[in-house]
Amino acid sequence: VKAQGKNGVRASGEALVEESARRSRLARDLPGAIARGQLRLVHQPVAGTAERRILGVEALVRWDHPVHGPVSPEEFIGLAEDDGLIVPLQRWVLETATAEHARLVAGGRDLKLGVNISVRHLQARCLVEDVTRALERSGLPARMLMIEVTESVLMDDDERLVAELAELSALGCIVSLDDFGKGYSSLAYLARLPVQVLKMDRGFVSGIDTDPRGAALVGSVVDLGRTLGMDVVAEGVETPEQMALLTALGCRFLQGWLIGRPVPADELAAVVDGFDAA
Ligand code: C2E
Ligand code: CA
Ligand code: CA
Ligand code: CA
Repeated sequence: VKAQGKNGVRASGEALVEESARRSRLARDLPGAIARGQLRLVHQPVAGTAERRILGVEALVRWDHPVHGPVSPEEFIGLAEDDGLIVPLQRWVLETATAEHARLVAGGRDLKLGVNISVRHLQARCLVEDVTRALERSGLPARMLMIEVTESVLMDDDERLVAELAELSALGCIVSLDDFGKGYSSLAYLARLPVQVLKMDRGFVSGIDTDPRGAALVGSVVDLGRTLGMDVVAEGVETPEQMALLTALGCRFLQGWLIGRPVPADELAAVVDGFDAA
């Protein structure tokens, strides 16, 4: 037992060393990732329960590292934020996502595009400029672009960030609050935010059919959205039971593996056109 314990300690010590080696390797390689063409986007569909069709897609970034393989944005967005690389990275995401989306809707499809934005990009005060340039270059109408920001903008309590979001709304873009319910939003503050869409965190959806309070909680978020005049998108919908409950509770927009997995741009048209609401 003692030996095992020792091994356990050594193993976790080694894991820590490996972990930190991986981190420094990724941090070292990230600056070159865009130039080397190692970033790509996948797009996940969002369905409307009333419309019974795909209403939009969300662009999600991937990094194909030559040694480590696919690296999750959960891992490298934080690195980019720490290293001052987040603005160039977000610019690449905005330019690429709007260009890919412009091709998708060129044939007349009416679809929104969601792009995730780091709060750091908002703080850098160039987001409005970068969004404007991406829209101009791609020819995409502003009303099709939804900028997704996480609840951490709320924690900041910075009036300038709110003003930047209002400018995006004034441009005609949609602003959504991502991972809603995961953090600590003050409801009073939420009401003052220039936000049109609440993306209800996956945590709410996963408990909806197992925890008796789960459905009540989801119902409260849907009602809150209605009160504030915001659309509510449920994230992480994985089962038909979850979809049925969400629909019954009045949630009109669904995203998750049940609706569709994230796919590369060239597979998206088939996913959108082939979507079967039943
Ligand atoms: P998010 O914005 O909440 O995106 C949804 C995440 O949930 C995605 O993970 C997606 O693949 C995953 N997902 C979707 N449907 C399901 C489901 O039914 N079940 C489960 N278990 N998961 C599902 P992904 O692609 O790994 O992205 C993770 C996070 O990284 C995103 O969370 C977003 O916050 C961030 N991110 C992604 N792309 C970008 C980007 O271009 N810029 C920034 N700043 N952040 C990004
Ligand atoms: Ca998102
Ligand atoms: Ca989310
Ligand atoms: Ca998330």
